[in-house]
Amino acid sequence: MSPVLAIHGGAGTMARASMTPQDEAAFHVGLRASLRAGHAVLARGGPALDAVTAAVMAMEDDPQFNAGRGAVYTSAGRQEMDAAVMNGADRAAGAVAGILGPRNPVLAARAVMQHSEHVLLIGEGALAFLREQNLTWEEPGYFHTAHRWQALQTELERRRLAAADTRDDAAKHGTVGAVACDAAGHLAAATSTGGMTGKLPGRVGDCPVFGAGTWADDATCAVSGTGHGEYFIRWAAAHEIASRMRYRGESLAVAADAVVADLLAAGGSGGLIGVDAAGNVALPFNCGGMYRGRIGADGVAWTAIYREELVAG
Ligand code: ASP
Repeated sequence: MSPVLAIHGGAGTMARASMTPQDEAAFHVGLRASLRAGHAVLARGGPALDAVTAAVMAMEDDPQFNAGRGAVYTSAGRQEMDAAVMNGADRAAGAVAGILGPRNPVLAARAVMQHSEHVLLIGEGALAFLREQNLTWEEPGYFHTAHRWQALQTELERRRLAAADTRDDAAKHGTVGAVACDAAGHLAAATSTGGMTGKLPGRVGDCPVFGAGTWADDATCAVSGTGHGEYFIRWAAAHEIASRMRYRGESLAVAADAVVADLLAAGGSGGLIGVDAAGNVALPFNCGGMYRGRIGADGVAWTAIYREELVAG
């Protein structure tokens, strides 16, 4: 089996005109760093689960992306993060929702998977459990970025004026995710997010809801989604792809395209990444762009932002 890893760093309307060439270049650099972190695991024969974790950690540490450092703010001006991991070989799964503290929320999700009897822990209870785990913690200031804070102020002002929402989605939300197929043909998915700018405190998105924004099953596919989370939950987006493959015999590409089209028809913008046990990768989205990339056994990192071909970097 030739291992492969795919990632996303959020999807949205993303007008090319609103980004400078420097911004674009910086996103490509961030995506490549994530791809290489995941590839390093796969290249030494490591499991898909470790590869997706490493890839997501790289983007959580990068303040450009809405996960970990650089997460967006709730309407109350706090950051509440969601993260999930799932292992396709045994459907082991772990997730956290509404947390602030662990430097890498994806490692918090792994701790839930590996060291608790549960699948999803939230808020204060999650933090109490996580304090007993061997995780690196950060003060709130570590996670702060001026551009996400400004995005909240803009959104609160827009609401106060009851004005139309004209901003790029990329400024309002985002998510990071990774899917991988390792040399043994096992699949895994990981997703991590700050959610949506100005979300109500306590709102949980699709990322930690298994079958919505995150899914992995060796029999079908591993999927990580990004976009308007409420739609991904209501359409059980990730699991719907697995179901179409399982019961209708559709390929990953056909199933993923169909689900992304269904989301669009319903009013849910976004995209997703998927991989199957043959190493096929799908990266569909129904909006202007999706930060995305893939890397195979040769170690060449391919990335793209808009509706365009992936470029090698
Ligand atoms: N899906 C995320 C959420 O709803 C946001 C995003 O991916 O843009 O929390």
